[in-house]
Amino acid sequence: MNIKTQCCGLILLLVMGIIYSRKKTIRLSTSRVFICFFAITFLCILLDIASVFAIVRTDLFSETVKNIICKLYLISIVLTALWGLAYVCVEIYAVGKERRRVLRVAEAVAGIGSLAICLLPLYSTYDQEYETVYTHGPGAITTYVLALSMMLVSVVLIFINRSKMNRSRREAIQIWILLWILAAVIQFFVPQLLIVGNAAAIGIMVLYLKFENPESNIEHKTGFFNQSALYRYIREFNHNKQDFSLLYIDIGINVYDTLKGFIADYLDKIPNVTKFALTQDEIILLFRDKNYAEEVIKKLLKRFEEGWGKGLAFYLQPNWIYLENAALLREERDYFYLLHRIKSNELQYVNNHFVRVDEETVALMYKDREREHQLSDAMDANRVEVFYQPIYSVKEQRIVSAEALVRIRDEEGHIVYPSEFIDVAEKNNMILKLGRMVFEQICIFIKNHDMDELGLHCIDVNLSVIQCSYQSLAQEFIEIMEKYQVNPKYINLEITETASVNAKQRLLENMKRLMDYGVIFSLDDFGTGQSNLDYMLDMPVNIIKFDRELINAYFESSKAKYILEAVLQMIQGMNLQTISEGIETKEQLDMMEKLGVDYIQGYYFSKPFCEKDFLEYITSWK
Ligand code: C2E
Ligand code: MG
Ligand code: MG
Repeated sequence: MNIKTQCCGLILLLVMGIIYSRKKTIRLSTSRVFICFFAITFLCILLDIASVFAIVRTDLFSETVKNIICKLYLISIVLTALWGLAYVCVEIYAVGKERRRVLRVAEAVAGIGSLAICLLPLYSTYDQEYETVYTHGPGAITTYVLALSMMLVSVVLIFINRSKMNRSRREAIQIWILLWILAAVIQFFVPQLLIVGNAAAIGIMVLYLKFENPESNIEHKTGFFNQSALYRYIREFNHNKQDFSLLYIDIGINVYDTLKGFIADYLDKIPNVTKFALTQDEIILLFRDKNYAEEVIKKLLKRFEEGWGKGLAFYLQPNWIYLENAALLREERDYFYLLHRIKSNELQYVNNHFVRVDEETVALMYKDREREHQLSDAMDANRVEVFYQPIYSVKEQRIVSAEALVRIRDEEGHIVYPSEFIDVAEKNNMILKLGRMVFEQICIFIKNHDMDELGLHCIDVNLSVIQCSYQSLAQEFIEIMEKYQVNPKYINLEITETASVNAKQRLLENMKRLMDYGVIFSLDDFGTGQSNLDYMLDMPVNIIKFDRELINAYFESSKAKYILEAVLQMIQGMNLQTISEGIETKEQLDMMEKLGVDYIQGYYFSKPFCEKDFLEYITSWK
């Protein structure tokens, strides 16, 4: 009897089934469909063997029973193809509705087809010489046509939706389909070779090894699911618009070596929670119910206060990030972007606290990402521009310098202001590249125009905190100045108090190198932060710039008035120069002049100009 290949396929599936059932498996629709797909393939091979028996052993099986078994076998072939299509659909159509629509049509076709198989005549042949058995006739042809059509629909769906599918998953399904079609075609022309069942089993094995192997979803040190399994969960929950919450626990460095048993066991015992581990110390718990999540979190926080290990000797204080409404995530990788942002920005996190991520934080993350794309697109497409705001000298009674202020343009050509992108650029270090681009444009401006003829002493350039603490800042800026042969006396770099507090040593090194080269420095935004006078005294700056806030406060509160006057006296005593920013009215200007402020910057004279308008403006002053 020609049942050797089927038996091989059956054994293969049996072994796979035993391994699969003994492992911890993820419970998502792809896996559920895979199990059905697996089961129907198994049944198909069983019926294949049974039909061979029924045909050969006429002494045991009546003609009717033989016919029923043979037709059931053919129907199971159609069902295998149908479940193959279902497996493809789960992967492609995340949303249940679309998936159901395709499957309903396929089910109807399979139903009608099965009925036709039942009604159409089917012949079986037993070749005693070669001991081979096969079925043929209209019933068999209908089966092959139906199954092949479903396979072809799968192929077409995969092709149309190739961008939605994971590449290697697509390849694995294609291998399965290809094997099946090849076997079916061979079996159709050489009916004695009953190899379809075996080919289907091998195809299933490929899918199993590549995707459905439970081992590939496990983080081995903890025994929890791994990051790729988490991706699949988030994806499916999101696509099904299902509510869920995620709790991230960063336990600490390598505590699992000593505390593995205690912590993992404790977490493992929490019911109705799916557990994941990114690394052995980073655990994520997925809850399907918010109230339950709150309850578990309360207990967990309390438990961690008690200590771990023998005699509760190890006290750990993890960092927690709780995302109550994880359904807000648009894509699975957004979760990691969110974690990264919180880890690098949230003070609470740094201080070992519990961070609760609300809707606003998620919305802000998406907004920031949009800005990030806008900025990087603008930088790539050279849509970064430098505007210049004139600075007036009280002594000389004319414009003597200008502050360079960066702008970018969006795709429609609208101006985007620094408040929209500087903080984003700082968060992801794009500020270094942006700073270089701005400085280069300023140097080109100085190179292309005779500064003395324009009556300009210098251009003020803003430096971000990140730039100030960047090791190669001085070297890079000097290289740019050399490239454009810019005399450094025309450059006035503005630092802020935050920069001087954050990475003071690095900043001082950069400042020293640049000052030795001939650049001067100012302290920007004075009056907004702590305005720590100690720091001010320490910083080798030539000019102090009073922030608009301080100027406005001067006209509104007597306390601010007293402070500004006292500070001004001190600064003048130290022989430093001063600039008042944000001067908008004649009254403000007169008062600043009276106080002895050296320079004035503000809308009273002008808003920042693009290069061309600035040149026109400055020439009109001469
Ligand atoms: P800043 O350095 O304190 O610059 C002064 C800001 O005040 C500018 O805003 C300017 O347009 C605005 N301003 C000047 N006079 C007046 C006034 O009379 N009334 C009002 N309401 N505003 C006035 P802008 O251009 O939007 O820049 C905002 C901030 O962005 C700057 O504050 C600076 O911290 C940062 N920035 C701008 N360009 C750059 C740059 O190239 N690099 C870096 N790192 N930061 C920059
Ligand atoms: Mg400034
Ligand atoms: Mg300022």
